[in-house]
Amino acid sequence: MTDPDDHAASLEEYGRRVRAWLEEHASGLPADPGLDAARAFMAALYDAGYSGITWPAEYGGQGLGQPEERAFQQAARDFALPLGVFGIGLGMCGPTLLSIGTEEQKRRYVRPLLRGEEIWCQMFSEPGAGSDVASLQTRAVLDGDAWVVDGQKVWTSVARQADFGLLIARTDPGVPKHQGITMFVIDMHDPGVTVRPLRDMTGEAHFNEIFFDGVRVAPDQVVGEVNGGWSAAVTTLLHERVSIGMGAARTERPASFAALSDAARERGLLEDPAVREQLVDLYLQERAFDLLNARLSQEVRAGIQPGARGSVSKLLLADLTLRSADVASEILGPESVAHGAEEGSGKIARALSWGPGMALGGGTNEIMRNIIGDRVLGLPREPQVDRTVPFRDLKVGTQEKEAGR
Ligand SMILES: Cc1cc2nc3c(=O)[nH]c(=O)nc-3n(C[C@H](O)[C@H](O)[C@H](O)COP(=O)(O)OP(=O)(O)OC[C@H]3O[C@@H](n4cnc5c(N)ncnc54)[C@H](O)[C@@H]3O)c2cc1C
Repeated sequence: MTDPDDHAASLEEYGRRVRAWLEEHASGLPADPGLDAARAFMAALYDAGYSGITWPAEYGGQGLGQPEERAFQQAARDFALPLGVFGIGLGMCGPTLLSIGTEEQKRRYVRPLLRGEEIWCQMFSEPGAGSDVASLQTRAVLDGDAWVVDGQKVWTSVARQADFGLLIARTDPGVPKHQGITMFVIDMHDPGVTVRPLRDMTGEAHFNEIFFDGVRVAPDQVVGEVNGGWSAAVTTLLHERVSIGMGAARTERPASFAALSDAARERGLLEDPAVREQLVDLYLQERAFDLLNARLSQEVRAGIQPGARGSVSKLLLADLTLRSADVASEILGPESVAHGAEEGSGKIARALSWGPGMALGGGTNEIMRNIIGDRVLGLPREPQVDRTVPFRDLKVGTQEKEAGR
């Protein structure tokens, strides 16, 4: 067995090496330096051995443990790493492929994902299926040697930059809605895939709508079982909630207690009892969020998966983000909506306009509360009268009875 003192010393050394590498390669990098520079950074991170730290070595990861991952994240907290565009691949698609992908899929896709050569997106939500994503209507029909995909997805983050995406589609409308879904890997460069940007309230087009028109997909691109796509999707969503909550615990929060108390001090508001009370509330909420995430990471280190408890972290993050928006508008006044500046209140304003999305993306606050009630607290499930009815007999989205073939 390794001596714990030796292990701690080698971890410290590991953390020092990470920091030195980041100082050399990431100091002064803008958080969004453009796609080519982001890819180059990711490739350099991979070559240095810091991408996929806990992922299996046979697929391109480093095969190390959570302590090394944590040491990396601690060092990375002080740098603005341009990794946003890779977040869905690293946080959701890669872990899904590693959990339930075939050997060929893992060998084909994981290494280029870790090197930033291939960007991934996640195509679940549809115009008529968001919270109730099992009502999805995009369909895949087996035609000779391929599945043919037709339909529409919406709110797909980074789809314009993506090379591949995980799609869930209806493959059997004759069974209840959760049972006739299959997950596929989709080549986003296929001529039958059209991606259109959707502008959000930050002024940017972070997400997109996607149209599939007769996209042919080989059977070896099915992820998990045919008609087993619901459990595949749940695997992705569990990774998503943990990665949103725990990821945010490790990255800079522009509208944090620290940033807002500095802003209050600069404006001579720190002695104002109303402002102080709001800041204290925010501090408490931040501490609760950080402590919960510290506990979840310790559990992951001990081999206990957070499962549905990832939803607690995601819900706390959404509440914290909205709360900090309130406090920021109190302290900054009109400046809290002053976009444009890269630093100071401009940076806070940008983060705030992104904030409400946090209560929706990855599952809304209401859905998180339902999951926590059902699966963490063991409360009775929400009644679902449509769980046993064949999909084609349901009235969902734009489905007409005869269209639900
Ligand atoms: C920033 C961001 C990024 C996103 N990225 C992606 C992505 O990459 N891929 C992807 O597939 N999707 C993505 N989404 C979409 C996201 O998953 C959906 O917006 C979300 O699941 C909610 O679905 P909806 O928008 O259709 O709202 P709806 O499901 O129509 O919900 C409307 C309202 O009804 C409430 N509601 C619905 N059902 C219940 C219920 N059973 N009990 C109580 N209240 C309920 C909801 O909480 C909400 O307030 C993203 C969204 C955002 C904001």
